Amino acid sequence: MRALISRAALDKLEAARPRPTRSRSASPRWDAVVVGAGFAGAVMAERMASDGGKRVLVLDRRPHVAGNAHDRYDAAGILVHDYGPHIFHTNSDDVFAYLSRFTEWRPYEHRVLAEVNGMLVPIPINRTTLNRLYGLDLKTNEEAAAFLATRAEPVARVQTSEDVVVSAVGRELYELFFRGYTRKQWGLDPSELDRSVTARVPTRTSDDDRYFTDTFQAMPAEGYTRMFERMLDHPGIEVRTGTDFKDVQHSLLWDHLVYTGPIDEYFGRRHGRLPYRSLVFRHETLDQERALPTGTVNHPDEATPYTRVSEFKYLTGQSHPQTSVVFEYPSADGDPYYPIPRPENRALLDRYLALAAETPDVSFVGRLASYRYYNMDQVVGQALATWRRLKDVAPAVSRR
Ligand code: FAD
Ligand code: UDP
Repeated sequence: MRALISRAALDKLEAARPRPTRSRSASPRWDAVVVGAGFAGAVMAERMASDGGKRVLVLDRRPHVAGNAHDRYDAAGILVHDYGPHIFHTNSDDVFAYLSRFTEWRPYEHRVLAEVNGMLVPIPINRTTLNRLYGLDLKTNEEAAAFLATRAEPVARVQTSEDVVVSAVGRELYELFFRGYTRKQWGLDPSELDRSVTARVPTRTSDDDRYFTDTFQAMPAEGYTRMFERMLDHPGIEVRTGTDFKDVQHSLLWDHLVYTGPIDEYFGRRHGRLPYRSLVFRHETLDQERALPTGTVNHPDEATPYTRVSEFKYLTGQSHPQTSVVFEYPSADGDPYYPIPRPENRALLDRYLALAAETPDVSFVGRLASYRYYNMDQVVGQALATWRRLKDVAPAVSRR
């Protein structure tokens, strides 16, 4: 029997038919969703796609990939780092070999001078620093060590960032180089910060004036962003920038989540806010070929509102008739850049880590999600290790 219904009526019925809304069940299911396209997120995504054959969605709320390592050509055509100078250094063969799949390198050893008593002297404090500051002629490491021994103040238990420096170089050099810088950078006195913070900057008795002494010290030849683009350029990876996880999580399905944002934010700050320190970056292009005598000049005095100035052309090796610099102004508000290592924050972190341990279908990776003062290479190492573990336990990872 033929149905007695007109074309127009059929169209009307079709128009009135309920459409499937974009619900969780209508969304594609991702093997993994990665929150954050910085080192932690990009390495995890690359490994899961290339090594694990997974389909991965990467989200970042910023309009770009590469996280804090993001670089770009400014209006003058100079390659700058949006979020302050990023110098790559590592002692890890594995990390260097892994990243070398995505970039060529330009060897670069960073050097920093500090403006102290109207002079520019090397930091880390070394033999040259002592000779210039005190008008000495210390010729050997032993002579420098003996001089420092006359200044150093023994500290029974080295616990704080003040203890580390005072016990190595004494109070005068501590006040000249560390107290003001640290009070500005962290909004805290060094005596309120874990020793690991100022211990990042060693004291030397040699005349080695490099900021880092790692085996590998080099910059990605075409910049960080280009390296990230290559890492993420895989048929198994889709990247959505300008997308906050919070806004889209209810419309997505996944088997595993990799979260690289602040760990307290993931858990709705239910135990309270973990403090992160921020910075305001003032970028400037100058009509001259060179601005500074070295890659970075530190300003440890408290009267100067910024901590350091860096000139990008040293880092990148770019030739250009103009030059671009960045000033760093510490700030309590703004993007979370630095976890703040001190005992009360560690106690709060432990409560969030306990929640993370009960959430096995989420991997917390990176500087913000671990709340650890990690350098780039440490984040890459952590992400590679996380993937190795995940790969082994993958079948056991709970399914949503
Ligand atoms: P990030 O790079 O912070 O990436 C996390 C990403 O997650 C961000 O892009 C963020 O937008 C995104 N995100 C967070 N929450 C969400 C959400 N809800 N939805 C979507 N996206 C989200 N290291 C060195 O080795 N050498 C250096 O010289 C050096 N210099 C530094 C200078 C400064 C001023 C700073 C702040 C850091 C420096 N570092 C340096 C450290 C380096 O930046 C970090 O180790 C590294 O970038 C951390 O990578 P990550 O992926 O853990 O975090
Ligand atoms: N620091 C200082 N004076 C300096 C350089 C560093 O007091 O001239 C202290 C300060 O507390 C700083 C910490 O050492 O935050 C670590 O310095 P680093 O250069 O590693 O800081 P980052 O590059 O991570 O900002």
